[in-house]
Amino acid sequence: MDQKTTDTLLELAAKSLLNNEPVAIHALDEIPRDLFVPLFNAAFLGGHKTVLTAMVRVWPFRCLHIGSLYTQESYYDILKAMIDGLQMLPAKNSTSWGPRLRILDLRRDPHCKTICSEIRTTFPFCFKSCKYSQRSILKIEEAQHSVRRLRIGNSGSEPHSAQEPMELLVDISFNGTLRTEQFLSFLCSKIQQDFGSLHICCRDLKIDRMSAHKSILQFLDLGCIDHLEMDETDLSEVLTILPRVIHLNRLTLCNIPFNSYPRRKFRSFLLCLGQMDNLQELSLPFVCLTNQLHKLLSIVPRQLDTLYLPYCSLSNRDITVLSESSQATYLKELSLSNNKIFSEGYEPFQALLEKVSSTLQHLEIDNCMITDSTLSAILPALSHCTHLRVLSFVFNPITMPVLKSLLQHLTSLMKLKYVIYPVPLHCYEEGNFHDSLDRQKLAEVQAQLQVMLHGAQRNDMKWVPCSK
Ligand SMILES: [Zn+2]
Ligand SMILES: [Zn+2]
Repeated sequence: MDQKTTDTLLELAAKSLLNNEPVAIHALDEIPRDLFVPLFNAAFLGGHKTVLTAMVRVWPFRCLHIGSLYTQESYYDILKAMIDGLQMLPAKNSTSWGPRLRILDLRRDPHCKTICSEIRTTFPFCFKSCKYSQRSILKIEEAQHSVRRLRIGNSGSEPHSAQEPMELLVDISFNGTLRTEQFLSFLCSKIQQDFGSLHICCRDLKIDRMSAHKSILQFLDLGCIDHLEMDETDLSEVLTILPRVIHLNRLTLCNIPFNSYPRRKFRSFLLCLGQMDNLQELSLPFVCLTNQLHKLLSIVPRQLDTLYLPYCSLSNRDITVLSESSQATYLKELSLSNNKIFSEGYEPFQALLEKVSSTLQHLEIDNCMITDSTLSAILPALSHCTHLRVLSFVFNPITMPVLKSLLQHLTSLMKLKYVIYPVPLHCYEEGNFHDSLDRQKLAEVQAQLQVMLHGAQRNDMKWVPCSK
């Protein structure tokens, strides 16, 4: 019997068991360990909350990840049911055959399996365990280990703690919706209960609007966070959080009105960024940075590979600074959309393209007022970006002959698979892309480009128009 047939049989057995929830819960004491994962998957997708609570309580593996599992219906209720099943285990439980769960991971991750392989008998046994917090299993066990060694050296008795440390991995979003608020309220109440040995580990924090349950931030170790996103938040609020998120990998600050604050606050912001040695992605949409980019680039790490700066009112000088920065040789993704970066000439952007040509994979230059002559001038530099996979330059006033010339040049970029192009000007009634669109003409444009792609044997390349 092959693995696939075995999996299907296990799934069928799990589903049939769930037809009667009390029987399924009763059977948890007796079913083989191999049946737990398929039964968990079926219970999660079928929304069997009572069974999920019972399963978490007696989970016979050391970690449990929801991974790729998702259900639109009562998603938060399912998460609540799983947290309800968490129970603190007495110390030294890990060697017994009873409940063993130490890490409950409620984050969605399509690449993560339900359990990690149990080859390792010592910690870290789970690929997703916390590395940073003093309350993490790793740090607590390290501390216990050194105390134990010290005491043995001094011929004292071994230390004994009542409970095994545990971790609950959960993404938190303050978005003001009722369901989220209810979930945060539930999480707060759980934290306030006597969960002495539980570390709530949040890696992904989104703050769209400050919530009534902001107090949860007091209970979190912000050093665990690797992705922080804040939208329309007061800069003072940002500055209370940034100094504590020192292990950040991705930072997105959207619509933060830096201009309305004294320079001192901008300096504080830069100081915080300078502490983030792991930072790889920085997105600052709608943050006005005119002639300020040099300050930013002087403190962010060299290895920063993603920079999103749409609607940042960047100047030509900013683009020159970027082209001369050490970060430019590492950039893989770059968005400069909605900035008038060509108003004083194309040379700074051309120099930037040459600098990023050996790394850049994704480029967005939408709505930058790129004209035919500008596009023709930067075309040779663009053709040198041999790693480019995605190019978007919509909402720029381009004509059909230049669009065709661009296609001819770019078909030599074998990694480039996706180009989002502006509808050429002749497809609009008055030749202006704010006028109404002639769909027949656009269809002809698409057909012509398709024939050209076919002729160049680049049917793998997608050219997609965007008019709105
Ligand atoms: Zn794991
Ligand atoms: Zn943590």
